[in-house]
Amino acid sequence: MNAHQPDEPNRHLAAALRARRKALGWSLDRAAAETGVSKAMLGQIERGESSPTVATLWKIAGGFHASLSSLLAAPPDGDAVPLLRRAQDLRSRPAGEGMLVAALFPFEARTGFEIFELTLLPGYERCSEAHEPGVCEYVLVVRGTLEVLVEDVWTPLGEGEAMRFAADRPHGYRNRATLPVVFHDVIHYPARA
Ligand code: MN
Repeated sequence: MNAHQPDEPNRHLAAALRARRKALGWSLDRAAAETGVSKAMLGQIERGESSPTVATLWKIAGGFHASLSSLLAAPPDGDAVPLLRRAQDLRSRPAGEGMLVAALFPFEARTGFEIFELTLLPGYERCSEAHEPGVCEYVLVVRGTLEVLVEDVWTPLGEGEAMRFAADRPHGYRNRATLPVVFHDVIHYPARA
C-alpha cells in the first residue's frame, strides 16, 4: 500500500529471532514449545522465507518475552539528538492482512515502551491474546472510528479519543466503518526484575 522495501522487515525479523533464540540457547524445538509456533514456521522465518501474520508475530514475541517492535525494527541510538520518524516510510503490511504496522518508536529498555502507528482497513478485526503480566496499552485514535474490545465489551473510539487498558488479558481491535482507521498504540512493559 505504501512504498517500502518488502524484504526489510523480514530481514530484521529473521536476524532478531535467530539472535534471540541463540542468546537463550534454545533449539527450534524449544522455541516452538515456548511460542506455540511450529518449528517449520520458525525455521522459515529465521531464513527470511516467510512473512508471518501479526498474530504469529505476537505469539513469537510472547514466547520470547520480547516486545513486538524489537522483532520488527532496530532500537534507536540513544536520545542525544531529536529523532524524526515518518510513519509513511515505516508502514508494513504483515502477511498482506488488513492491518498496516509502523513501529514509530521501537521498544527501548530504558523507557519500557514502544509506539506504533496502526491502520486497520475496513472490516479488519483482530483479537489479541493476553500480553505479559503488567503490560498496559494506550490507544489514541488519529483518524476514523476504532472499536476496542476490553473486558468483553466493544467500545467505539472516534478521532481524538483515547483509551488505556490492561493488556495482560484478552483484548481486540476492529474497524466496522467504510474508511480506514488510523491510531497510535503505546505499549508499556513493566520493568523486569
Ligand atoms: Mn495488544
